[in-house]
Amino acid sequence: MIESQRSISHICFIGAGYVGGPTAAVLARECPHVQVTVVDRNAERIKAWKSDVLPVSEPSLLDVVRGPRDGLNAEKRRNLHFTTDLEGSIQAADTIMVAVDTPTKSRGTGAGYSLDIGRLEEVAMSIAQYATSDKIVVEKSTVPVGTGHTISNILMDNSRVGVNFEVLSNPEFLAEGTAICDLLSPDRVLIGSSDTKSGLSAAQALADVYATWVPRSRIITINLFSSELSKLAANAMLAQRVSSANALSLVCEATGANIDQVMHAVGSDSRIGPHMLRSSFGFGGSCFKKDILSLVYLCKSLHLDDVASYWQSISDINETQKSRAVSRIVSRFNNSMGGKKVAVLGFAFKEGTGDTRESCSIDLVKGLLHEGALVNIYDPYVDKSQILKDLGFGEESSGGSVKICQSGEEACEHTVAVLVATNWDMFRVNPKALMNGVKSSYDDTNGEKEASSKARGVPYGNGSTSCSATG
Ligand code: NAD
Repeated sequence: MIESQRSISHICFIGAGYVGGPTAAVLARECPHVQVTVVDRNAERIKAWKSDVLPVSEPSLLDVVRGPRDGLNAEKRRNLHFTTDLEGSIQAADTIMVAVDTPTKSRGTGAGYSLDIGRLEEVAMSIAQYATSDKIVVEKSTVPVGTGHTISNILMDNSRVGVNFEVLSNPEFLAEGTAICDLLSPDRVLIGSSDTKSGLSAAQALADVYATWVPRSRIITINLFSSELSKLAANAMLAQRVSSANALSLVCEATGANIDQVMHAVGSDSRIGPHMLRSSFGFGGSCFKKDILSLVYLCKSLHLDDVASYWQSISDINETQKSRAVSRIVSRFNNSMGGKKVAVLGFAFKEGTGDTRESCSIDLVKGLLHEGALVNIYDPYVDKSQILKDLGFGEESSGGSVKICQSGEEACEHTVAVLVATNWDMFRVNPKALMNGVKSSYDDTNGEKEASSKARGVPYGNGSTSCSATG
């Protein structure tokens, strides 16, 4: 049993992705007395973390990873190491933070689509087999409620005699694009544990690490299952705000009300607040949809069918919003997009990141291509091969229907409509400047405002149409 006052001096992160990499780097920066090792089975990813071209694009991340400059050469932070050596890393650490991906299961059951914790179980098995001393094992990944028990059982059933484990939940709330700020100044740090003496002692040890830079008042310790559910609930409620705004945008369109004005008025109520209330093409990113589906699955398996339907409707509205956007653009052109060129500005799911997982742009572009349009795409962070892969094309070719551009201006040239699909500041363009690249035959509307809105193909609100999403 891990009971006495513990302290943490060597943390191993397993999973060097959007969560594991930045979190490990910030922890190493803020806790120079703690050794931090980041391990991943993807050797290419580890190689990239050791280079100056990191596998994750985040403002300030390179500086945090690189650490203080030493003379002319950029030094890597001395207490931060990236490796593929899983066995050695597990053995050396007293605490293991598991930040592997937990995607939606590819095959659903009667209750829908749960999160796939297969990678987490695999990691738990490795920890059990390799550990030669007691470990605190921390779920950083987003998991279904009850996963802590599953992981504990795997560890207990497969470990060496005399080696003990304490499983904690410490879900991550960072949002891509602002990951470093979010990690340095989190709204809260959540630590869930069993209420045994050893569970509480392990939670205290982890809280002490965070307290190096996070005020104690923001470190919340709760029970393991509450912590696991809180992460799913937080994402579901953020997504629910986006879908509420989008659902109201339909009412606005039918009544002549203006959704931006309505959301401003609604969000001015201090009980509601202004965040995540912008009508948009919908939420994207790897987390919101999968976490809602996981909540739906949980509710259905508990026979809470009405509750399941409530959460399911938030995901459904999001899907409708994307197809509605394409339909509106197409109807603006008399349902005839054949051969017409459309620009899509931004391909990542939000600004500040190159992550395209579940990006609305993918569905928007596919919808436009289906209608026969030609699409010019520009994103400052996403490379050509990723875009073509996401659209289901081979590495280099889209058969001429898609052109990947080097700038927003190039993307807008000779287009009939421009979709501002990601909320980058650089896309908050002067409509007149934008119109320079847009085909003049569509410049024939009454006023400049109408012309710009038509050219931009912006179906809702007054301009930027992306939506920030957290993970
Ligand atoms: P990711 O896909 O970017 O990274 C996961 C990494 O884990 C990959 O590099 C993969 O190679 C590695 N991995 C998988 N199985 C492994 C194994 N057995 N051994 C070693 N390495 C292994 O995922 P992510 O976006 O960092 O998300 C990780 C978790 O954090 C998910 O549960 C996600 O829901 C959650 N989360 C994500 C965000 C976000 O914004 N991306 C925010 C909060 C929480």
